[in-house]
Amino acid sequence: MFLQYFMLHGLVDSKGVRNLFKTCCERYSQPLSSDEAGRMQQLANFVITINRNIRPFHLTIRKGFDEDDSTCFYCLVNTCDSPITRLSSDYTVNELELFKLFLGSIMMTDDAAIGSVEALNLTASLEKSMSRDDAQRFYERMVKNKWLKKSSRGELSLSTRSILELDPLIHSMYPEVARQCNICSRLCLRGQTCNNCQIKLHLYCANRYFKNRESHTCPNCSQEWHHSVPSRESSRRGESNFNTTLDDTSV
Ligand SMILES: [Zn+2]
Ligand SMILES: [Zn+2]
Repeated sequence: MFLQYFMLHGLVDSKGVRNLFKTCCERYSQPLSSDEAGRMQQLANFVITINRNIRPFHLTIRKGFDEDDSTCFYCLVNTCDSPITRLSSDYTVNELELFKLFLGSIMMTDDAAIGSVEALNLTASLEKSMSRDDAQRFYERMVKNKWLKKSSRGELSLSTRSILELDPLIHSMYPEVARQCNICSRLCLRGQTCNNCQIKLHLYCANRYFKNRESHTCPNCSQEWHHSVPSRESSRRGESNFNTTLDDTSV
């Protein structure tokens, strides 16, 4: 039931995961710890067990954070197929070509996002033509299926689901521009960049690193960090203790 929900939704925020776990326990009459920390530990153990069981099928439940508001998400990730191969059941060949152009285009920007108009203009570079209406519908579907997200300003960028799934692909396709966060070593597309040595930090990693430090200097080159420290609320929304435990086995 837990896994089915993930298969259906792909990406679930941590609050949704906690609710789902509670429902599963009730359904199968499993006792749930009375305190929050105990419940978190139960959930962590549960997900670790699931990951152990689905590993032979090249699946794993992986944790990630939204790079903008740092909401914590869990995603069922296929560790074997290329994500592009997997998308091919839902999208046409030409749509996937457009997605590759989109990927190439955002990787050339500082914040890994492009405006909707720019995204639609990419159709001009397709070998096989696609109308702007079709492209518009394609992007809308990608947003609906949580592969892309659209900001309030209309900019399109990769969702947490895409980043978790596409991480190896992006590193292999764009080794020059794909950057890792200096703190957590995961792919970092949108975050803070050191003005001096150009290392990147996720907003939630920057918060965790700087919040208890008096002087704000780059963790790599020790020069002054020219960005404000992201707020605690925005950098840990939806986060809870058990995620750290989950990290060790699922990533
Ligand atoms: Zn990080
Ligand atoms: Zn630096």
